[in-house]
Amino acid sequence: MSDNIQMPSCGLPLTPEQHRVLREHGTERPGSSPLNDEKREGVYHCAGCEAPLFDSSTKYESGSGWPSFFKPREGMTETTVDKTLGMTRIEVHCAQCKGHLGHVFPDGPKPTGLRFCMNGVALRFEPS
Ligand SMILES: [Zn+2]
Repeated sequence: MSDNIQMPSCGLPLTPEQHRVLREHGTERPGSSPLNDEKREGVYHCAGCEAPLFDSSTKYESGSGWPSFFKPREGMTETTVDKTLGMTRIEVHCAQCKGHLGHVFPDGPKPTGLRFCMNGVALRFEPS
């Protein structure tokens, strides 16, 4: 499936949990990320390659147990159709290192109506 994706040599060292999510499409336990409660202003970077993915101004409380955003930074994420687990979902990954971030659902707030449901372990928050 993703075996032919080339990882950049500049990839950052990952913890086993980060590797499981970013490189093996894992999902962290809901409510387990400290980023759920992160309310400061700043930028959320990819934990795999440091690409700036989301601004804190697009983060909102979805109640899902995962950090949620209604809009990624322009061109920083890509999507694929994920038909695993008997569901059709839209998978979201980092445009730069292709690391798996989470999924996007059509039940978010305005203006996009989208909910980018992210694994906190795949993100690194940089307060501004
Ligand atoms: Zn990345």
